[in-house]
Amino acid sequence: MALDIVKYGNKILREKASPVAIVTPELRNLAEEMIATMHDARGVGLAAQQVGRRESVCVIDIPDGCEDDAATEAFNKQVVQPLVMFNPVILASSGENMGKEGCLSFPNMSGEVLRAETVTCQYLDVAGVMQVVTAKGFLARAIQHETDHLSGILYVDHYTPEQKKSREKRLAKLAAKNGGVR
Ligand SMILES: [Zn+2]
Repeated sequence: MALDIVKYGNKILREKASPVAIVTPELRNLAEEMIATMHDARGVGLAAQQVGRRESVCVIDIPDGCEDDAATEAFNKQVVQPLVMFNPVILASSGENMGKEGCLSFPNMSGEVLRAETVTCQYLDVAGVMQVVTAKGFLARAIQHETDHLSGILYVDHYTPEQKKSREKRLAKLAAKNGGVR
């Protein structure tokens, strides 16, 4: 069943998610519904607040061929996807990667955002077992984007002043339609 996706302007997108104490069957079910919702919307990632929830959980599924080069694609193969992360925390990040980014809460919008090239992230998997993954490139970008969501941070917050200025009208219009919280 696809869940409704919360759009920019809704105050929940600015709230911080709460860590989950234990990965219950209900939370596993939520993660499954989030994966279905993400696939339905042709997205590559989704965080709890985007479906109106406050538990710290996000899902990511990057299709083959999204990385810039074969080496990055090969490196990321060790990460099993769809990736479901409860209580994700980025432990380390390095390098820089400028690339195009969008978000299901910002329909038909995208822009270049500077992110770390490589991140190491700790999280609880669906079985409640602590895992640590290291990812590069677009997958690393998705991990940074989704962990940001769980902290109430949105990709447009990373825009340069020039980018913000050039998109202000559209962002203001979208926010006004969905509750007005920037
Ligand atoms: Zn997003």
